[in-house]
Amino acid sequence: MSKKMKGIGASEGVAVAKALVLKEEEIKIVKTAVTNVEGELTKLADAISKTVADLDGLRETTLKKLGEEKAAIFEAHKDIAADPAIREEIESMIKNDSVNAEFAAHTITNNYFEMFAAMDDSYFQERSADIKDVASRMIKHILGIKIVDLSTIAEEVIIVAEDLTPSQTAQLDKKFVKGFATNIGGRTSHAAIMARSLEIPAVLGLKSITQDVKNGEVFALNGTTGEIVLDLSDSDTAEFEKLAKEFADLKAELIKFKDKHSLTKDGIEKEIEGNIGSPNDTESVIENGGDGIGLFRSEFLYMDNDHFPTEEEQFQAYKSVLVDMNQKLVVIRTLDIGGDKKLSYFEFPHEENPFLGYRAVRFTLDRQDIFKDQLRALLRASAFGKLGIMFPMIATIDEFKRAKALVEVCKEELKAEGVAYDNNVQVGMMVEIPAAAVHADKFSKYADFFSIGTNDLIQYSMAADRMSENVSYLYQPTNPSILKLIKLTIEGAHKNNKWVGMCGEMAGEIQALPLLIGMGLDAFSMSATSMLRARAIMSKIDSKEAAILANKALDLETEEEVLALVNEFLDDKL
Ligand code: PEP
Ligand code: MG
Repeated sequence: MSKKMKGIGASEGVAVAKALVLKEEEIKIVKTAVTNVEGELTKLADAISKTVADLDGLRETTLKKLGEEKAAIFEAHKDIAADPAIREEIESMIKNDSVNAEFAAHTITNNYFEMFAAMDDSYFQERSADIKDVASRMIKHILGIKIVDLSTIAEEVIIVAEDLTPSQTAQLDKKFVKGFATNIGGRTSHAAIMARSLEIPAVLGLKSITQDVKNGEVFALNGTTGEIVLDLSDSDTAEFEKLAKEFADLKAELIKFKDKHSLTKDGIEKEIEGNIGSPNDTESVIENGGDGIGLFRSEFLYMDNDHFPTEEEQFQAYKSVLVDMNQKLVVIRTLDIGGDKKLSYFEFPHEENPFLGYRAVRFTLDRQDIFKDQLRALLRASAFGKLGIMFPMIATIDEFKRAKALVEVCKEELKAEGVAYDNNVQVGMMVEIPAAAVHADKFSKYADFFSIGTNDLIQYSMAADRMSENVSYLYQPTNPSILKLIKLTIEGAHKNNKWVGMCGEMAGEIQALPLLIGMGLDAFSMSATSMLRARAIMSKIDSKEAAILANKALDLETEEEVLALVNEFLDDKL
């Protein structure tokens, strides 16, 4: 009998493949006296060459997939692995103390680790993490422990893990990784967002999937419904094959909308845009016919790095997206760090509630050195296309004015240096804090545009941590209370003739579409893979009928009532 489980469907599509369960094996290092010193030295030499070979491989694949800059990390790791001084010290310890290779390797590398970790300079602290990484790889090789590198997976698997970090997710090659299933996380966790941009089906928040499924066991996953099936029967396999075919057929149908305008049934033009996390994702937005990029989460440039990216590094990244998008609007959000998004090379002060703390624009307004590098890079890139600069987590008019004033300072600097930029670059803000939504008619005097960040807007309105599956039932985008905040935001923008988009996950949710059209939203930014479906359904929605629907919904009491109303409305349109 097959066994079924339900998690949160976080990225559409189905997969049937072998489980690759990621479990960090605990390394036990025991000091042993050895008589065969030569044998230990050989083990060490072998482990070093295997480590160097691994790192070469990682460098190669990273170079092909993510470019020179990311690949350089593995070059630095290789330098550590092949460092003659470290090797000599380990060898001396094995010889002089007659101890086992793993003990000597651990002791010596740990000395280096502690020395670097204790330094004040963040550059050296970061090197300590590199040393730990490389040392653990080397020691695993000495002990013969198998190492899983996600980027080198070369057979079809479904990854099963506690959680996946955004940068781990970025390593996945969708040719082999058919899906992933995790214990924690939800629809708006960053692993989910990355999964959608990579078009890898994913089910998250399964609580104990790392225990429920055995490594190597074939199982099925439905990222649309959140269903997992273990111990597959023949009929289950047939059912999943059918679903996979339906999914492929739907994709073929939708591709017809690729070069069409985003129009409602009665011909009102909207924008359907893509959300991206790195310049590499731009391709998928173009392939799926996006009208632009409504959100470039620039924080991934900072997170997948070992230092704050320089102005020049950022300029190159932003410019490449603007050039690729060829005069279509690209909205780049300034650094939205803090909360669940951490930097390996920067320690945020400890806070009880980091989601409510020192993050995003609160951090960059405080660290204007870091902010200005980004703003200058953005302005320089603005000369190469149509750019919108967007500030995250704006709560007060004063914050917006201060951030915008800094843009002006950077413009003046660039002008004095004779560097080109677009003087008409749009400067807008995320509306993701309820205070900003309520006050939108005042913000729109200063901001050129709004983009509603429903992931956070719902989190803060419902006081429900978006990372917690225990309270995930409170993620209710179509609850009338949330709809009211959205309506206030849209009306507030239009009062001063500004455009308003949405870049939270709600923008791509089909049941929200008629309501948002009905309330007059201008732009819908979502994962690239959701865009064509949204355009197809939009073409069947009359804006006046949608307005009547939205007004009815705003007057209801619960999300269930709204969904029932919307489902009836959408019945003949899906
Ligand atoms: C949001 O909060 O809705 C949003 C788009 O930003 P992020 O998910 O990156 O917080
Ligand atoms: Mg947000």
